[in-house]
Amino acid sequence: MSKKPLPISTICAWKTRIDPTPDYQRPPAWSRKQKQLLIDSILREYDIPKMYWRSVSRDDGVKYEVIDGQQRLRTIWEYQAGEFALAKNIDPVNGIACAGKKYADLDLDISTIFDAYPVDVVIVDDAIQTDEEDEVRDMFLRLQNGTTLKAQEKRNAMPGQMRDFIKDVASHKFFENCKFTNSRFAFDHIAAQMVRLEMAGEPTSVRDGDLNKMYDGNRDFDPIGKVAKKVRRVLDYLLRAFPDKTPELERYNAIVLYCLSSTLIGSYAHSGTEEALAKWFIEFETERRKNETLDEEERDPQLIEYRRLTSQSTDSEESIRARLEFIERRFFLAYPDIEPLDETRIFTPEQRLAIYRKNDGHCQLKIKCNGERLAWADWHADHIVAHSNGGKTVVSNGQVACGPCNLVKSNKPDPNGATAS
Ligand SMILES: [Zn+2]
Repeated sequence: MSKKPLPISTICAWKTRIDPTPDYQRPPAWSRKQKQLLIDSILREYDIPKMYWRSVSRDDGVKYEVIDGQQRLRTIWEYQAGEFALAKNIDPVNGIACAGKKYADLDLDISTIFDAYPVDVVIVDDAIQTDEEDEVRDMFLRLQNGTTLKAQEKRNAMPGQMRDFIKDVASHKFFENCKFTNSRFAFDHIAAQMVRLEMAGEPTSVRDGDLNKMYDGNRDFDPIGKVAKKVRRVLDYLLRAFPDKTPELERYNAIVLYCLSSTLIGSYAHSGTEEALAKWFIEFETERRKNETLDEEERDPQLIEYRRLTSQSTDSEESIRARLEFIERRFFLAYPDIEPLDETRIFTPEQRLAIYRKNDGHCQLKIKCNGERLAWADWHADHIVAHSNGGKTVVSNGQVACGPCNLVKSNKPDPNGATAS
């Protein structure tokens, strides 16, 4: 690292060499008043906080990424470009009136103070290795502690595989069909809450502190492991259920619908239930909204209670558990015929032998092969009706499959969207 004072004139001349928004930076957020205050401080030659830049060698020369100081930098550039004026009520500087003035209107003595003002810039040396990228993010995180950075923006600056996985999950198309937008990284935030709920396997608190711990404690999270796969399956299911923009999908709904869908996928013959879920959900929301317009004595108190749960400490375990129980009860009452999956998923050795003899060891799928006879050490027991479709783990629902055919069948969702096994 090297620290040097750079005059504002240089900082302005270098504008094209400076990238104020690398991916670990926060979006612009300063108000006009904050901007005016910064320029006022500069003209009065008060100290302003140091900036941190990172130098990066690119094909067209050395560039700088701003680790900290983005708002200050933008403000300086904007003022110099005449994009805003000083506040109208400020005192003169060195006896010279500046109130309400843009850069070009300043007295030459004053604009010279601005141009020559030395900004302390700490330059972090060119970091080529990705380890160092993490270090830069770590530093950014430390610098931002105690400021107004929102919690999810902070988490996006935390290095590790959990952060990368959640960023990836947040780009799932399902989120685009919800009512909320991705402002302040709402998609990342909700995705993180979903991942935490999936890891817990039951309602749990998903407050910022819990999410921070999850990011920190899962830096080596496996992005193709069991939890990761389940999260993607649930979101794929939700996207099939809600293929278009659905204004009823608000933040608090998305979370409990995720939990309900995760239960359906994990324990019920869920294939083909997407439409039922979407239909039920939209009817439920319509009824709930209508209920609120009724006279007080006509309202359904249960729906009022649900509404209360969605508006107070929505990220607490108690609220999520109560909301989930509420919608689960209503959903299963509306669709009483949804069958639980056969709990047994794996054929016993006795069943396997019976299946092998039944088919005389020949692959029954014949997708990749011509039904060749397989050695005892080299075959798979396949569910004819997929387990996720409610197929039972019984000999009559088992068949011999070769590895390549079985793989094709497992990877190809059937028309109802289930995965074979
Ligand atoms: Zn085969």
